Amino acid sequence: MLFRQLFDQESSTYTYLIADSETKVAILVDPVIEQVERDLQVLRELGLTLQYCLETHIHADHITGTDRLRGLTGCLGVVPENAAASCADFALGDGQRLRLGNVEIQVIATPGHTNSHLAYLVNGTHLLTGDALLIRGCGRTDFQSGDPGVLYDAVTQKLFTLPEDTLVYPGHDYQGQTVSTIGEEKRWNPRFAGRDRYEFIELMNHLNLPKPKRMLEALPANQQCGKV
Ligand code: FE
Repeated sequence: MLFRQLFDQESSTYTYLIADSETKVAILVDPVIEQVERDLQVLRELGLTLQYCLETHIHADHITGTDRLRGLTGCLGVVPENAAASCADFALGDGQRLRLGNVEIQVIATPGHTNSHLAYLVNGTHLLTGDALLIRGCGRTDFQSGDPGVLYDAVTQKLFTLPEDTLVYPGHDYQGQTVSTIGEEKRWNPRFAGRDRYEFIELMNHLNLPKPKRMLEALPANQQCGKV
């Protein structure tokens, strides 16, 4: 398997490139519109064919590169089922699997940051957590039908029950951290460690975060797979 973590500085977003080394078929998870040229160059230089662009959720802080990549490569755009997006070629839901040669992606519904958020477990070892679980943090739950109790259940019952050495690759990082493990986050993530469901809900309901700068532009664009 080929696995690459790419970063967009402006939105602190990680995009993941995953490909089967034999068939050279690739997917991008959470591409960013401003980074489409970068992504195309990596694909070209590695001799990869882009088959799918996957979203972990409908983003509020950046515009997805999916529509542009689809126009340029003919790849398929994939969104979580029940997401408010009418632009996708197909949708994925909990328990479904997507196969690319020797790479298998298992879909894990992890709602709470948004009501249709998905995590993707790649070959049983690399977990793309989107904004459900960040390194020593988690995504906010105060808009887009977010719900802290639902997020607590998804993270503690679904992600924290995976093997401790499962690699955690988040959708964002604001401190330069790149990867963690399930065991590490269970022990050291200050949002979850030592907190019960009620305490987590209290904490999340009192974060008082400002709204993302580009939310009013990003949400409607992402409901169209990033058509601008
Ligand atoms: Fe998000």
